[in-house]
Amino acid sequence: PPSPLLWCTAKTEGWSPSKIMSKVSLAKQGKYRPRNYTDLDMDLAILIYELGGDAALYALNKSPVSLPSRHTIADKRREINLRITVGDVKLLDIMKNIEMLFNNIDVGEHDKVLHTLSQDEIAGDERPCYLTETDEIAGLCEHAAGALTTFKMGSDLTSVKAAVQAIKDGRVHVGKEFSVAAIARHAPTDYGAKPVLLMPTCKHGSWEIAALNLQRLLAAWKLSPYGEQLHGPIKTIASDGAPDRRKALYLICM
Ligand SMILES: [Zn+2]
Repeated sequence: PPSPLLWCTAKTEGWSPSKIMSKVSLAKQGKYRPRNYTDLDMDLAILIYELGGDAALYALNKSPVSLPSRHTIADKRREINLRITVGDVKLLDIMKNIEMLFNNIDVGEHDKVLHTLSQDEIAGDERPCYLTETDEIAGLCEHAAGALTTFKMGSDLTSVKAAVQAIKDGRVHVGKEFSVAAIARHAPTDYGAKPVLLMPTCKHGSWEIAALNLQRLLAAWKLSPYGEQLHGPIKTIASDGAPDRRKALYLICM
């Protein structure tokens, strides 16, 4: 039977009986699949994916119910789409993440409070990836900024080949871990640390780069309309004793 979505589309677009017949026949041959999913379809597909996994959703996508596919719900499932650092740490990326995470938070009675900036590494799966939104190669370490001229894929394999060669030569590494910087409110509500910087790292960066990145983080919080201006200043910086960061912290905090 044709998908219920076909009837919905026919109704909303006011199809004539002959158009409905031709679409039904195309749908039966598998040449037409209406995709005007409602919010309920999307929510249902997300729920089934979360509970039953990929196989369950795939089956229902191919069934007459024709729920949205895993690919279709991907963007909706991701509530927050944080920017990952590609190459140099960019002020704009940090500010974009600050906006995403601090724009609409429940501040309760405390709109301006003090904040802590924390930094540490988390494990990554040590592989490069492709960012469709920006057409960039991501997942390379901090050395990539100086060693590669571009991270954009473009229409041929030139930049991929350059990246592969740089990795083979040992000038660039695939990030083993992610260096994460997060900002947390000192307040009774919504005090969880929110990650504003996610940077693949080989853990062999210099302390100068660490100091520069720390400055960029502090500057981004000051400059962003969703940072200090809306929520109050960063008062403390917390970190583990990573050797390069220790020197950077000494330079900035002392
Ligand atoms: Zn490296």
